[in-house]
Amino acid sequence: MYKMMTPGPTMVAENVRIARSVETGNPDIDIDFFDYYKETCELYSELLHTKNESLILSGEGILGLEAAVASITEQGDRVLVLDNGVFGKGFADFVSLYGGEPVLYTVDYRREIEVEPLREYLEKDHDFKYATLVHCDTPSGMLNDISKLCPLLKEYGILTVVDSVSGMVGNRVDVDEDKIDILCGGSQKAISCPIGLTLVTLSDAAKKMMEDRKTKIPSFYANLTIFKDYYENKWFPYSMPISDIYGLRQALINIKNDKDILKRHAIVAERTRNAIVRAGLHLYAENGYSNTVTVFTIPEGVTAAQIIGLMREDHNILIAGSFDVMAGEVIRLGHMGYNCTEENMKETLAALNEVLKKLGVKLKAELSYFIPEG
Ligand SMILES: *Cc1c(COP(=O)(O)O)cnc(C)c1O
Repeated sequence: MYKMMTPGPTMVAENVRIARSVETGNPDIDIDFFDYYKETCELYSELLHTKNESLILSGEGILGLEAAVASITEQGDRVLVLDNGVFGKGFADFVSLYGGEPVLYTVDYRREIEVEPLREYLEKDHDFKYATLVHCDTPSGMLNDISKLCPLLKEYGILTVVDSVSGMVGNRVDVDEDKIDILCGGSQKAISCPIGLTLVTLSDAAKKMMEDRKTKIPSFYANLTIFKDYYENKWFPYSMPISDIYGLRQALINIKNDKDILKRHAIVAERTRNAIVRAGLHLYAENGYSNTVTVFTIPEGVTAAQIIGLMREDHNILIAGSFDVMAGEVIRLGHMGYNCTEENMKETLAALNEVLKKLGVKLKAELSYFIPEG
């Protein structure tokens, strides 16, 4: 296997892989599994600092985003879509798909969404049922400060839907303090499981919005109310992917036991950014750096495919380009969850240094991960 330093999926710890391989029972009929599922959801909620209920859905991260929108959108609802990245803008498609009217609040993709300009905007127009916001917009590595933006939206009575699929665990998330009504997570980013699960965390206000609908949710799989009373009734709406959930449970335990996890992400991310800048390469963003991914613009005269290809061929390390409007513009180095160690970034940047030199890129200094003394 190659070393996988992409911004999701990440490498997966051995104990998570082992947990996924143990013999499984029947999750529909074995009543003990309902406790296992519920306790796993509660552990996840605990890590996100909330008493709000979380649900594990069988489906990749996108399902969580779609389910959030499908469950609270009705025909003609105005929805504020905060857009400073590919996933940010992408919410508008889901809103339209479920009959809502997305209103885009777009800012420069190189900059985080700032509080004061948004406040000025909301002063003039705050007639929105809910707002969507991406914590870490992975294609550009843009981090938005949900601890300031969500409380601001709530001041204007706007329910908040946050995609923190690639933000959480590597960047601070406090659902209650941040006033997040629906938080979307995924298994394959900093949680460091394989692809396959998405998690949604629901406030009472979000649940009430679903119950107070005048029209039915036009979906089954993306309908979050189908989980209502699953525990009391010992009935899941569909058979649960039990091996994935065994793996998730172990990954969450790993995160809980890793007391320095946020600090490590902060240090590794900062040292990675410093290395990029010292070498004379350019970070894509001007501010709003996520601690889970570093994104830099592709130096002149070379392509993403060349860099990614040589990293794989010469060094057996997989890194990422980007997609949508970011395609061909940037290279992305993932340092999230299980990937996020000084050793991994040291090795990755040393390899990248060789690759760029081989491609004839002139660097101001060696690209290397530098650990200051003391
Ligand atoms: C990875 C990710 C998702 C899940 O979607 P993919 O199909 O894996 O691209 C959703 N939102 C964000 C911000 C992500 O990084």
